[in-house]
Amino acid sequence: MSEIIKMTDIFDTKISCKKCGKEMEKVKVNMKGFGIRAVRCRGCKEEIVHPSDIHALEQFKDLKGKNFHVKMRVVGNSHAISIPKEIVNFINEMHRDMQSEMDMVRLQFDDFNRLSVHFDEHNDWGDRDR
Ligand SMILES: [Zn+2]
Repeated sequence: MSEIIKMTDIFDTKISCKKCGKEMEKVKVNMKGFGIRAVRCRGCKEEIVHPSDIHALEQFKDLKGKNFHVKMRVVGNSHAISIPKEIVNFINEMHRDMQSEMDMVRLQFDDFNRLSVHFDEHNDWGDRDR
């Protein structure tokens, strides 16, 4: 397991609007169903989206709809499947504000031949103290 390097996030500092000079506030904007971090000017409503979230959205476009063929393994009384590393990496990236890596997921048998794995977000970005 490689250590996650915490970088100083530019969005943690106060950002002034380049256009009108007013302070910008943190917001979450919805882009293709994604909660993308952004800052919005209180004055002119100019928005700047977080560069790493844009990157994540690009990654998502590559992964979405992709088929992965994985083996089922018997573990005790259950069956285990492996979730491809690129998906886990992506999910962890999306939940990087959480204290630890996600170890619980929600399963939903939503069709007779389909099982969904839900990587629910338990924390909303922006309402937590930093
Ligand atoms: Zn402005």
